[in-house]
Amino acid sequence: MKFLYSDTQDYVDPNYDFIGDRSAPNRERYWDDVYAHEIMDAAPYDGLLVAMSAVRQAKGVAKSKVRYSTSEEQLLLRIGARKFLRFDGPNLRDLMLLGDCGAFAYADKPEPAFLPEEVVEFYLDAEFTHGISPDHVIFECNLANPDVPDQVDGIDRFQITLENARKFIGLVRQEGSPFEPLGAVQGWSPQSMAEASAELVAMGYRYLAVGGLVPLKVDAIKQVLETIRRKIGPEPKLHLLGFAKADHIHQFTGYGITSFDSTSPLIRAFKDEKANYYLENQEGGLDYYTAIRIPQALENTRLMQGIKRGLFRAEDLVKMEQNALTMLRNFDKGMGSLQGTADAVVEYHHYLLQGQGEDPKSIEKALSLVRTRIERTLRSQPWKRCKCSICQSVGVEVIIFRSSNRNKRRGFHNLGVYHQHLKNTLERSA
Ligand SMILES: [Zn+2]
Repeated sequence: MKFLYSDTQDYVDPNYDFIGDRSAPNRERYWDDVYAHEIMDAAPYDGLLVAMSAVRQAKGVAKSKVRYSTSEEQLLLRIGARKFLRFDGPNLRDLMLLGDCGAFAYADKPEPAFLPEEVVEFYLDAEFTHGISPDHVIFECNLANPDVPDQVDGIDRFQITLENARKFIGLVRQEGSPFEPLGAVQGWSPQSMAEASAELVAMGYRYLAVGGLVPLKVDAIKQVLETIRRKIGPEPKLHLLGFAKADHIHQFTGYGITSFDSTSPLIRAFKDEKANYYLENQEGGLDYYTAIRIPQALENTRLMQGIKRGLFRAEDLVKMEQNALTMLRNFDKGMGSLQGTADAVVEYHHYLLQGQGEDPKSIEKALSLVRTRIERTLRSQPWKRCKCSICQSVGVEVIIFRSSNRNKRRGFHNLGVYHQHLKNTLERSA
């Protein structure tokens, strides 16, 4: 089972100055920066997924969904995605490179943003090894298997997805099948998804990409997979699109899943309330630790609001911030107490919450929660136990929730831990 990471131009500055908190003045984004597979000893995934809607601005789609500049898009199409992503080193060049439409970006439109012709051309230029037919998301999965969906245009979307798949595989064959096509599965219930799967197999697809799983619970996903497998048998390969339940992968080893993509190990490094840093435990499960939030005082809107309202002075704030950072770095070197370090961080958080205009009672409650979580992290010092190249080189900086260079590094570390966890899980279940 392969783990693919859905790339959204995630890179870090390898020469970032953590003490001065800055990049070199002449650093050029993308050119000087490095992807996870460049900065880590081994790629922390088995392949990359690139969504067309993240690369190309589609008509009527919000600009915020596009992660590439026009010149980056042009470069990618000129030299191919593998070269563009610098995913072509000796240990990388044979890894999977999967093209997808990124249907969520245009999910609110009546029709997909890209035509099958356009998608095939894009995949060809990008030189993907695999490409998924252009689908249209159906926003429900009714486990009771009704004959028709609740979503008014659900049937239309179901048919559009299948018609697109038929055109798509025809075009890929006309081009001499330079990449392996995957048929996208959309449906409003396990039963309708199984029927779509059977149609795709009849069209000639040997590899299906199951969509619409993102909001589903573990048991619902299992029901979908069981229903699909019952209908199409064990042979066709399956890819799970946007598999948000990646942490439960040990429950999914029995469905013949060939691959899945997920961004959650990286995203949770800086979006999750408390599970920011992954580490595999003795029992083969994943432990999660809360990163220590010390945001940049003068770049934080909550803190700036506090200054504007006259609650505290900028100088005091910067002093508190520096104190928290120094205490934490000293603690890492074995100097200073856990209690004193936690105090310094919690005190800085007190300012953060005041800046937000919270009342004293909820501030007190929030601070006690912060303290409990960071004390656990400080007691355990997980960054010292990790052997990955990120933790080995930047040490305690990886656990600090502060600026993209720390947060993304922590995300890369999580990808690496997750990738190893997957390998261990598969070995155990074999
Ligand atoms: Zn690490």
